[in-house]
Amino acid sequence: MIVLKPDKRLKQRFKSIDFNTLSLVYSLLFDNIYKVSKKRSFNITLKLTSGVYSYYCFDQIGSNVRINISEVIFDEKEFHLVLLHEFRHFCQHKVLKIPWSRKYYDDRTEESYTKSPSEIDADNFAFISEFKVLRIYKRMVKFKKSLSHLNAFKGSLV
Ligand SMILES: [Zn+2]
Repeated sequence: MIVLKPDKRLKQRFKSIDFNTLSLVYSLLFDNIYKVSKKRSFNITLKLTSGVYSYYCFDQIGSNVRINISEVIFDEKEFHLVLLHEFRHFCQHKVLKIPWSRKYYDDRTEESYTKSPSEIDADNFAFISEFKVLRIYKRMVKFKKSLSHLNAFKGSLV
């Protein structure tokens, strides 16, 4: 399972996003590529960060990791795209075991950066999955709301 844990500022900025439901969607995405017999859960802290770059650090050990989201992002759709991109870097690191080497990631120039295999892969993943992820996320939010009348205890026959 994937548990997305937005920090206070991020939560404040994207008030309308239901991060619990979004975590379920990301869990599905992850389950699809995480093919091991004993699966573990990962907590991904989402931290609103100063500067224009969003990033996932490839040196993070264990199952508690962090994705930094740039503070310049206000648009919800852009946030989802960036999160998917960085989440893919997390998958490259933790599941696909892509080495953090110049062959896969080269940020010496703007051009080498955009042509880095790890970047191309993350962009493709984000672009292709965004529509599907948002569609199922919205449906799940709706489904969750539709269940709310079941919440109260009703120990008598209706
Ligand atoms: Zn990237």
